[in-house]
Amino acid sequence: MGNFSEIFNELISSLSRFPGVGRRSAERMAFFLLKMKPKDAQDIASKINDLHNNIKSCQVCNNFSTQDVCAICSNPNRNKDIICIVEEPKDVFAIEKTSQYNGLYYVLLGSLSPFDDVGAGDLNIGKLLNRILKGDIKEVIIATDSDNDGELTAQYLIKKISNYKVKIYRISIGIPLGTQIEYIDSATLGKALAECRPILE
Ligand SMILES: [Zn+2]
Repeated sequence: MGNFSEIFNELISSLSRFPGVGRRSAERMAFFLLKMKPKDAQDIASKINDLHNNIKSCQVCNNFSTQDVCAICSNPNRNKDIICIVEEPKDVFAIEKTSQYNGLYYVLLGSLSPFDDVGAGDLNIGKLLNRILKGDIKEVIIATDSDNDGELTAQYLIKKISNYKVKIYRISIGIPLGTQIEYIDSATLGKALAECRPILE
C-alpha cells in the first residue's frame, strides 16, 4: 500500500481513461469519491464489478447481454427477416432509442481501420454470413458510421453480402459524412433508418 498521493494518483490515472475525461475532471471525480460515504463509493465500485461479472456478449448478435442470447434476439415479436449491422453495442442502444426499428442486429465489435491496422481478418463476420446463409434473413441494413472507417467497412460488407440472396440497404440519408451513429439525435437516426437507401449491385 503506497502513500496518499500514490493511491490518489493511481485513481486519477484510471479515471482519466474514461472518454472525454481529462486530468482535471479525473481529479475532481477522485476528490468527490473520497468525500463520499464509503458505502456509496463502494456501491459504485460493486456496480462496475457487476458489469463484467454479469454481462457478456450475445452468442447470436454480439450485443451486450446477461443471457447467452440477448433480449432482442430472443424476443418473438421482433422481425426476424431483417438484420441491422452496426459497429458497437452503443449503436444498438442508439437505434433502439429511436423506436423506429423492429428487426434484429449484428454487432461487428469494430470497423475496418487501415491506420490502426484492423483488417478484414479481424472483423468477425463469419457468424453474420452464416446467419444470412441459413436463409431466414431477407434484408440487411448496414448502419456503420459515416466516417472513413465506417464507409470502408460498409463497402467491404456490401461486397461480401452481395454474394447472398438478400436485399442490402445502407443507412445514410440525412446523416452528414463523418458522423458516428451514437452521436446522432434519435429523430434524425429514426428518419435515416426509415429512409435507408438500397444498394444496387
Ligand atoms: Zn442478440
